[in-house]
Amino acid sequence: MGSYVRRLAARPHHVGSAYSRDNAEWLSTTFRQWGLDARIETFHVLFPTPKERSVELTEPKKYKALMQEATFGIDPTSGQRNEQLPTYNAYSIDGDVTAPLVYVNYGIPEDYELLERFGISVKGCIVIARYGASWRGIKPKLAAEKGAIGCLIYSDPKEDGYYNGDVFPDGPWRPKDGVQRGSVMDMPLYPGDPLTPGVGATQDAKRLDIKEARTITQIPVLPISYADAQPLLSSLTGIVAPEGWRGALPITYKIGPGSAKVRLRIKSNWDIKPVNDVIVTIPGSVFPDEWIIRGNHHDAWVNGAQDPVSGAAAEMEELRAYSELLKKGWKPKRTIVYCLWDGEEEGLLGSTEWVEAHANELKQKAVLYINSDSNGRGFLGVSGSHSLEKFINAVARDIEDPETKLSVWKRGQLQRIAGARSTEDRQEARNREDLRIGALGSGSDYTAFIDHLGIAALDMGYGGEDGGGIYHSIYDDVYWYTHFSDTDFTYGRTLAQTAGTAVIRIADADILPFQFTNFSETVRQYVEELKHLLNGMQEQYKERNRQIAEGVFTATADPKEPRVPPTVKEIPPHLNFTPLDNAVDELAKGSDRYASALKKGSPSGSRSAESLRQINQKLIQSERLLISPDGLRDRPWFKNLIYAPGFYTGYGVKTIPGVREAIEQERWKEAESEIVRVAAALTAQAGIISSAAADLEKTAR
Ligand SMILES: [Zn+2]
Repeated sequence: MGSYVRRLAARPHHVGSAYSRDNAEWLSTTFRQWGLDARIETFHVLFPTPKERSVELTEPKKYKALMQEATFGIDPTSGQRNEQLPTYNAYSIDGDVTAPLVYVNYGIPEDYELLERFGISVKGCIVIARYGASWRGIKPKLAAEKGAIGCLIYSDPKEDGYYNGDVFPDGPWRPKDGVQRGSVMDMPLYPGDPLTPGVGATQDAKRLDIKEARTITQIPVLPISYADAQPLLSSLTGIVAPEGWRGALPITYKIGPGSAKVRLRIKSNWDIKPVNDVIVTIPGSVFPDEWIIRGNHHDAWVNGAQDPVSGAAAEMEELRAYSELLKKGWKPKRTIVYCLWDGEEEGLLGSTEWVEAHANELKQKAVLYINSDSNGRGFLGVSGSHSLEKFINAVARDIEDPETKLSVWKRGQLQRIAGARSTEDRQEARNREDLRIGALGSGSDYTAFIDHLGIAALDMGYGGEDGGGIYHSIYDDVYWYTHFSDTDFTYGRTLAQTAGTAVIRIADADILPFQFTNFSETVRQYVEELKHLLNGMQEQYKERNRQIAEGVFTATADPKEPRVPPTVKEIPPHLNFTPLDNAVDELAKGSDRYASALKKGSPSGSRSAESLRQINQKLIQSERLLISPDGLRDRPWFKNLIYAPGFYTGYGVKTIPGVREAIEQERWKEAESEIVRVAAALTAQAGIISSAAADLEKTAR
């Protein structure tokens, strides 16, 4: 595995680069040498790279940002300057703006609420936000909505620098000139090529004009290091930032705006570049039209030994193992499709375009999609469709943790007991049959599968014992990985064992391992969370209105530090959740019936391939029923009614997003119609699950 990592991360290999193409060819050639059917599938996408970029403090004193990561002699690839992408945020609009600077903390909705209370507007200003608390693309998106004309994003040492430990190359954390590159495309609107939403970006695809592409930012944005951020932040005047806003720089954090003025300039080449996905197919012998899909991206921002190569190397090793099994006569029942995606970093380009291009076939054939993105040392982390929770728990029970020799499941359970925040959580960790998996929002290549087509998905990787601050910098390389992360690649092997075991088990199962009791229990929790959200808002508004009437805000405000008191708001109405409650009951009934039919079992070999195919088709289609063809409000590309990235959080999942966001944004009529829409989807799902149970009952012992 070390040899794969050293080869793939030897040189910078971002989308469209020479070494990215070279890697794609080497991957497919290697797979063919192993006797596998591998090919490169190419799409053509908009990919901006900067030709001019600068950040200058113009008043009260002058400072020109360096915007160059330092080379360290001890780290051989950190000096590959002519192949490294400069530090920038991809899909920032071009611009040249000069304006007063305002510090907005993480630049998320809560931060702007507080700014309002302080009476500070960012209108006409350039904001500086720190990385963290949201997906980065949210920061310029919100700033633009609030009237800002430019956005800087910097890495505060509190998040991933010296506050946490020694900085690179002495330790794993971000050095002073280190910069986090990254995409700021508005992916909660739609990911993938900005010019071809909803269709594959093939050579002759119909393309939008760049001006029509809604996922490019509204205002120019650039990322900077903390060495470059400090002179800017320390020149701010005005209100001292509240405690939660303070980072770890040796300055007094202030908000501004004052006399500090910044000029921000970015101009890009807006080129169409090739995206080269490597696709490997192992045909199924019994159910060739049922596909088990597995993926990890191969492109990086720079060398990317951790992100993504550590995960891609595991995928390679899985394929090598299959090639050995095939030589020994193994014939998987289902078709196995392995994907090494290109262009993930810029906007999930390779996976989104592939899914869009093959949508019709995938809707029919895809059983599930298993993703990884990068890997490290520590504990197994899994998120995904709750209908696969039992299945992946069973896999985790059979994989050995290389450090403790416990199963990775047991180690994960004990970690949850240790880290439980409440007695209830601790009890659940001890007593629940399965460890819960998180729901998927967005942030990696599973997005198009689960959110656009309703294909069940899992995302997995090891980590938690190898913190660091090299994310999306030139220091995410072989030197860093072999000194500070999974230094001997044992967790690389463990990831290959985990994902490989999952793939083989599903590929060869008679009945696909979907189970719905955990799903229905979890959806019931999601519904309770919605009620809780609404109740919380009602309580909060009531209390605030009362305090306004009592004069609390005017009496406690320091007249020398003006604050804007909150205004009286209408208390949210009660909503009718009954349709959802009933649908979840139906779902629970269907799920229980399926579970007991499965338990009764049947003599092995007693079912014909055709009867198995019929049951499995129902299981596959049950997941598709969570999709609504109309999609979510304002972003119809996102069609899954249970899982979606938040419109203002990006990575963070919004479960039952249509209802939740309608409540959050106080659109009450819409919340009720969304409740009905989700209830209908769940009821339909309950129906198909019961029908699969009935099929099973027919052949039970
Ligand atoms: Zn990645």
